[in-house]
Formats: sequence, structure tokens, C-alpha cells
Amino acid sequence: MIDTTDLTPAPDQLADAWRRIARNSPAQQADPLVMQCASGLAADPGGKHAHVWVAGLVALSGYLAWRPERAAEEAALAALRAAAKELGGRPCEHEEHPYEAQVGLLEDDIWTFDTGLLTTADEQVLCPVNVAGWARVAVDVIAPFTVRRIPVGAPEHHRSYIRTLSGIVNDYPYCDPHEVLTDEAEDHPYLPTRGELAGYLVTMNATCWYATSERITDRGVLDAMIEGIEKAVSLLDDRPCTHAPGEHPDTGDPDWTNQVGYLLRSPGGRAEISEYDGWDEKDEEGEADQEYEPLDAWVCPEFLHDLAEKTLVELKSGLAAYETA
Ligand SMILES: [Zn+2]
Ligand SMILES: [Zn+2]
Repeated sequence: MIDTTDLTPAPDQLADAWRRIARNSPAQQADPLVMQCASGLAADPGGKHAHVWVAGLVALSGYLAWRPERAAEEAALAALRAAAKELGGRPCEHEEHPYEAQVGLLEDDIWTFDTGLLTTADEQVLCPVNVAGWARVAVDVIAPFTVRRIPVGAPEHHRSYIRTLSGIVNDYPYCDPHEVLTDEAEDHPYLPTRGELAGYLVTMNATCWYATSERITDRGVLDAMIEGIEKAVSLLDDRPCTHAPGEHPDTGDPDWTNQVGYLLRSPGGRAEISEYDGWDEKDEEGEADQEYEPLDAWVCPEFLHDLAEKTLVELKSGLAAYETA
């Protein structure tokens, strides 16, 4: 067990405070806890308390992925990146690390998941490489596609949604498409992470050609999609676009766009997009290098505004056909 007896407050008291923070906790309640973890970690990112502060930022990543004060978000990300860099390269004799087995976690589950970092003496859990792994996962939840080497693996039920929807977008549905598309549309995200919000809007775009085709005979499907998209757009944040012209993703292939729609919604899924793109192998530093494929364009608010706008235009023209019929 790593000695944390010199840490005040004690780790279990810290963990109690972290557990009381929800996605939409007020900044004055959450930010001091974030800043305590971030400054503790930044002060000594490879130090003997690093695992405590990483556990804290994993636990607070739900709050950090929603609407944190920008200063708290930046401090947390910088500290987590420093820890990933400092600890990730340490030599160890383990063939695998526990965090890798958790890649099927949903973003929702990550901040409530017990990483074991505070509660175990298991040397594989406390191995610096495992601590670095959790730091990278937390970075990816807060700022998708800005960190490499997240283990690949979308949650199984996301995979099953991709299969069902790919039947529809490829025009061989094996479930009632009216029902599937309405359920998807009504499942719009509440206090989403950037990945969940982007995923929802990308899925709506991938399926809109089908929804406006003559295969759909109930305008309720279109109404639900329009309502869901409008709600989702209202949740986009106002961070500026950092991309050059032409760097926003191509959404011309509904089959790929449909896959991306669900892969965007978890760290393991986003790692599949990175792997498909070859992004993971290009650089081992763990930091995004913008000189090639800016995959973070998938979660860019400006890209998503444009995509939602295109989708709404198509859905509303589909609606007009009901009105003239
Ligand atoms: Zn190890
Ligand atoms: Zn952009």
C-alpha cells in the first residue's frame, strides 16, 4: 500500500466529498475540490500521492465533462496530462492493467466506478501505468480526442444499437424503423458529455435520409427527431472552432456516420474511431498533434451546429410533404 498517512484530509474523507458532486453541481461547491486535486497533481504529477488526485479527477469527471468553469477544466486537464506523461512511461512487469478491462464503461459509469486507486493495496491497481491509464480516460471524457492510447472497445449495448441502426441506414431494417427511430430521437441526452451530445446529433444526421424517405409513413417520427435535435442543440457550448476550412468531418456516408454516432459516446468507442483513422499509431506522446486529422472536430460545437442545421432542413422538408399530402 502506498503510504498516504501524511495526506490531510485523508483519502476516504476526500472520496466522500467527491461522491457528493453531481454533473450539475454548482461551481462554488465543485471547483474547490477540482482545484485541490489539480494542484495536488500538478505539483508532483509522478509523486506518491498522484494516484489519489487522479482518482479524484476521475470521480469529478462527470462534473468536468458538463459545464465546469473553464479555469477548473483547464487545470484538471493539464494536471491529468502531466500525470499521464510522467507515469505512463514507467517500466513495469505487468502484461495488462486493470483500467484496460473497463473500456466498455459508458461515460456515465466512469465517475461512479470504483477504480480501486484509493481502496486497494493491489500493486497492479497502484502501478503507475494503471494510474496513467485512468488519467488518460478522464482526459478523454472531459476533452474527447485529445489524448492517445485509450484501449479500444465500445460498450456492448452501443454495438447493438449500431447494428440495429445500420440495418435502417443501409435500407434493410430488421426491426420496425418507425419505432427504432422514434426511440432514438426521444432518447436525447440530459446533461451530456461532449461525446454523448455529439453522438446524438451525428446519429440523427445519419438516419435523417431514411426518416424523410417514403419508407416512413408516420410524421411522428420526424416530429420527435426535430424536437430532440432542437433540445440537443440548445445544450451545445460556446467554445470556438479551432479547425481550418475543410477539417470538419465528412458525413456523406450514412453507414460510417451511423457507426460514429454511437462510437462517439464512450472512451472505448472513440478509441475505435482513432484506430480506424490510424491516429493512435502516429504519435506516442499522448497529446494530440493537430497537423493531421483533427478528430476532435467530431465534437466541435460549430461543426455540430452546422450538422444539426442540415439535418433539420432535411427533416422539415420531409414534414412539408405530409402537409401537402
Ligand atoms: Zn504495471
Ligand atoms: Zn471546428
